[in-house]
This record gives sequence, C-alpha cells and structure tokens, in this order.
Amino acid sequence: MAVIFTNKDNCKGCYACIRSCPANAIKVEEGLAEVMKERCIACGNCVRVCSQKAKQIESDIGATRVLLSKSPAPIACLDYSFPVAFPEIRPRQLVTALLELGFNQVVEGAFGADLIIQEYRKLIKTSKQKPIISAQCPAVVYYIEKYYPQLIDNLAPIVPPMIAMGRLIKKYYPPETKVVFIAPSVAKRAERDDEKVGGVIDAVLTFDELEELLAQKAIDPASLGETPFFGPKPNLGRLCAISGGFCKAIGVSTDPLDKEAVVGEGAERVLEIIHEIDKGDIRVNFAELFMCEGCVSGPSIRSELNYFKKKQIITEYTLKETDPEQTEKDLIRYGDLNLRRRFTNRYISLPYPTEEEIRGVLSLTDKTKPEDELNCGACGYKTCREKAIAIYRGLAENEMCWPFVVKRLKATQEQLIQAEKLTSLGQLAAAIAHELNNPLTGVLVYARLLSKRLGGDGLPKEEALSYLSKIEAEVSRSSGIIRNLLDFARQSEPRLKVVDANQVIDQALSLVSHQAQLQNVEIVKKFRGEGCLVTADFDQLCQVFTNLILNAVQAMPQGGRLTLQTEIISEEGVGGKKQEWVKVDVADTGCGIPKENRRRLFTPFFTTKEREKGVGLGLAVVHGIIQRHKGRIKVDSEVGKGTTFTVYLEACH
Ligand code: ADP
Repeated sequence: MAVIFTNKDNCKGCYACIRSCPANAIKVEEGLAEVMKERCIACGNCVRVCSQKAKQIESDIGATRVLLSKSPAPIACLDYSFPVAFPEIRPRQLVTALLELGFNQVVEGAFGADLIIQEYRKLIKTSKQKPIISAQCPAVVYYIEKYYPQLIDNLAPIVPPMIAMGRLIKKYYPPETKVVFIAPSVAKRAERDDEKVGGVIDAVLTFDELEELLAQKAIDPASLGETPFFGPKPNLGRLCAISGGFCKAIGVSTDPLDKEAVVGEGAERVLEIIHEIDKGDIRVNFAELFMCEGCVSGPSIRSELNYFKKKQIITEYTLKETDPEQTEKDLIRYGDLNLRRRFTNRYISLPYPTEEEIRGVLSLTDKTKPEDELNCGACGYKTCREKAIAIYRGLAENEMCWPFVVKRLKATQEQLIQAEKLTSLGQLAAAIAHELNNPLTGVLVYARLLSKRLGGDGLPKEEALSYLSKIEAEVSRSSGIIRNLLDFARQSEPRLKVVDANQVIDQALSLVSHQAQLQNVEIVKKFRGEGCLVTADFDQLCQVFTNLILNAVQAMPQGGRLTLQTEIISEEGVGGKKQEWVKVDVADTGCGIPKENRRRLFTPFFTTKEREKGVGLGLAVVHGIIQRHKGRIKVDSEVGKGTTFTVYLEACH
C-alpha cells in the first residue's frame, strides 16, 4: 500500500502525524517522521493534520488527464459523500461541470451501496460469525488485515460500494469503458489496487483534486446549468455516507436496547470496538465502522461544515431524490452481479518488549520512577510507555521526549556558560599579566640602570631625568590600565539622574576636539533639538562617548568626517507597548573594521592599535556601562568606508 509518501524536506518534527495515526505507522529517524508503507492503512489522517505538507498522497490527476484525452471519454462515478464536498452548488450543476471537464457520463456511486445493502441483509440472516464487521471503509479493512487478522472472518465478505459500481460498469457497459471514481479519501486509491477487489476502477480522484482540475480549466460549477445524473438511481445507499446510515439501510437497529448493532466512527472509537470484538466482549450482530466520522468527513473533503450539518445535507438529499420504484427496477436489472470478496492476511508482527526492557528504555530518558512518566504527549505518543515500546521497535527516538531534551539542553547550557566563564577569566588574567608585565619590566630596567649609574662615576642630570621620565611614563600607563580595568569590572550601579544626551556628547567632544583638529577631522553635529533626555550617570555616559569619539578620530589618521547624530525612535516593546529610545550615532569615514574583528570588539584587550595608542579596554568599558544603563549598542562598518557605532538608551520624559 503505497498511496501516502513523505516529503522529508518539509518535515519539521512536530509529531502531529504520530498523534493522528491509528496504526502507529510513523517512524521517526533523526527527527524526521516518515510513513511506513507496510504498516500504513491509508486512512489519510497524517495528510490532513500535516500543515507543512510533508505527508502527501500519490495523485491520480495525471492518470485522469490521460483518460480524459482518450476516446471514449471515461465515466465519472461520484462517491455518495459528494453533496457535502460541494455544498455550495446543486448536484446537477456538478454533473454539468464534470461533463465540461470532458467526462462522458456522470453516475452516482451511491447505487453501489444500494447493490451491497441487499447482500448485507442476506448475510446478517445467514452468517454464524458474530458480529459481522462492515467492510465498506477501506481503512477499517486494512487495519483488521494488518493488526487483527484473527478478525478477518468477521469482516463481511462483500465488496465496498466503489468496487460494486466498478464491477457493474465493467460488466454492463461497453468493454472499453473507463471509470474515474471521485472520492473523499485516499484509501479508495489503495482499494483500487487491492489484489482481492482491484482492477475495476481506472483512476481515483479525490474531491480536492477534482477542485484543482476544475480550477485549472476555469470551470465554475456555480455558474453552470443543471444536467441529470446518468445510470442507475440510488436510494437508501446515499445514507451510507454517514455513520449509522448503513445500519438504517440494511434494516439493523442501532437502538442500544435491541443489542443488534454497534456504530463506531473515528479512529479512537473504531480501535476500541475492534479490540473489544477481539476479546469477545461485544455481543451484537453487526458493527458498522468508519475510520473517519463517516465518508462525509473523509480527509479529502475540505468543507468547513460541522458534522451535524453534513449529516443533514446527506439526509435531505436522500429524502429529496428518493424514487424507490426506480431503484428497485435498477437493482433487478443489475441483479446478477458478483458482489462477494475475500481478504488478505497482511499481519506484521512487531517485537514486544518485556517489562524489564520497557523500564530499560524509559531509564534512557531519566524515567526511573512512575512519577517520572509525565505522559505529556509531546512526542506524539499518548504515554511514555507507548513511546518506550515504539523506541524498542525502532519506530521512535529518545530525543522525541521534550521534557528530557529540555532538561539536557539546560544542563549543557550551564556547562557551556561555566566553561565560557573559565575561558574568559583565563584569557583576561593572561592579558592583564601581559599588559602590566611590559611596563613593570621597563620600570625595573630603568630603576636598576639609575641605581647602577648613581653609584658609579656621576650621572649627568639630563640622563637621570630621562630615565625617570621613562619610569613615570610606564607607571602612568600601568595606572591607566588599572583604572580602565576597574571601570570595566565596576559592578556598582550608576548614579542615575535625568541628563540630556546632547549635553553629554558635547562634554565628550570638548575632551577630544583638540586631537580631532590636529588630525584634520571635520565634526558634524546633527542633534535633535530637544527632548533627548535619558536617565543615566553623566560621567559614565561621558566616558562612553569619549571612547567612541576617540576611536573614531584614531580611525581617521589622514582626516575625515565625524558625524554625531541624536534622534528619538519608537519601537514596539513587550506586550505591544510602545517604547521610545534616544538613538545616538557616532559615525566616522575612517578605515572601517574587518568582519572577522567585529565579533571581538567588545572583548577586553582586543586591540589592533600600536602599543602606545591602545590597550583594548575602551569598548569593553563602553559595553559594560551601556548594559548597566539597560541600553544596547550595535556597530555597522565597511572596510575603507567607515564605521558607525549606534547607542540606544531608554528615553525619559
Ligand atoms: P583600543 O582603542 O584601546 O584599541 P577599544 O576597545 O576602544 O580599544 O577598541 C578595540 C578595537 O576596535 C580597536 O583597536 C580597533 O581595532 C577597533 N575599533 C574601535 N572603534 C573603531 C572605529 N571607529 N574604526 C575602526 N576600528 C575601530
């Protein structure tokens, strides 16, 4: 059965398909969920629930087009659920649309149900096997063939309506007649190819594929006139599209007190009923089972209608179109059709783990006690035990357990943070040692030289002063490094007050304007007139802009333009609340920063400058201060064109 396939590229690992699959036919490998063809029962649930279109059905659109291009054109046979698939148009308009599409005739598949109703009536009277399970839903038949083959004898050995119609057309119509069945589910396609009943339907088009064909040919059924159906006239067979309808049609009571029949609709109920029948705990004559909520809820019916409304549409259509006399005549006319069938035992045995093995698998995801089993369903399985069994069978993976994965991620994250901290600390210590060792070595060398020369034959005053000034320079460099380090490490909260960002920048500019002038740097101020107020520590903020402006000036040794711009911007913050920011751009037309350096800019002691000009603490200090002010900083740069540092600080009013 290969009607559903997986497009692995689209799978996002949400496990919705696992949740929806009644046959446990989804296998997860390396996070991707794939349909296992041998386990699949073609119910189409996974196709319906997959929003990413990772589960797709093999299409018969191509085959239908080929049939339509040939002569004689094929017959379209509409499944009895069609009034629900096209509720907005009248049935006879749909007939016209199908004829326009190129079909030769359009017949109602519901007559197939009328044909088999008689067979079921006879079977119920004569069969010793109880309960008889209806065999009109292919997904139910495949489920029993694959998972409960011991119940195959309970399945009614009567073909489903589609096959009954196929056999009718192949027997009574000209031999070259081709049939396209238009169906609510992909399971009918599996039935078309089934070795026991297949060979009488030439293509199965789903309702959504039919819509696609009509749209491609720009046929709008609602705008068309009405044409009556061809072929035999159905009656109660139409009711078989809804659950309970088949019982009604074959005359079996669904009244619980009569204990004649049980009706199961939807995978969950159907599986429960099959399980109970297997245990011998259901004591009725007949079980009418649908994997969906009747064919009116088949996976290829896109209708938004609720179940009640769908039932009503089918009931009203049945009542309106009923013509028992004509149906009776047609049943007599096609009375000698062979409507019997057989089934195939397709049992797939899967290993079942021992209790100890289940516990072993559970412990791999830290579930050692019953209370560790959260049964949250995030993996697609209802319980942790079910998933453990699936893992044992090679259908699932440990990593599908979200609580386990989240716990492991958290632990890994903590380890990484710790490792990162230790690495940074080591790097910082090495850098500090290096930075301080150089000036201290200088101090030591000159101090020793001085004491040696002083003890000797007299040292000229100028030479002594030059040694002393070198010592002074090295000491002041060391002290500068230590001051910067203290700034960087300072954890004390800033002394906040309302300050004007424009004033802070002016103050910073006054400290470096001399150097800018010397280097032929033009300063352009584009300040927002007023209102650039922020809550900040004036001195710390001044340090931020002094560092940024100094870096900018140093990046333009041959001159250039330094632009300082302030403005207020508004952003949507948490919970959709508007947040205003004072945005300050410090832009230069200097050398720019290569991409590989941008990541490291704010790392302490990262510098590209020569020894006298930088130690690589400026931006680390800037970053620390901005963070303590709950602001943010970003950098844009292009080598050879310039750099812009942008600082955002919360605006205050
Ligand atoms: P320092 O200025 O002591 O090197 P910083 O932390 O202030 O330390 O800057 C680190 C490095 O970032 C500088 O060495 C330089 O390579 C780069 N940098 C910072 N600002 C600019 C800028 N405006 N243009 C080009 N490079 C810059």
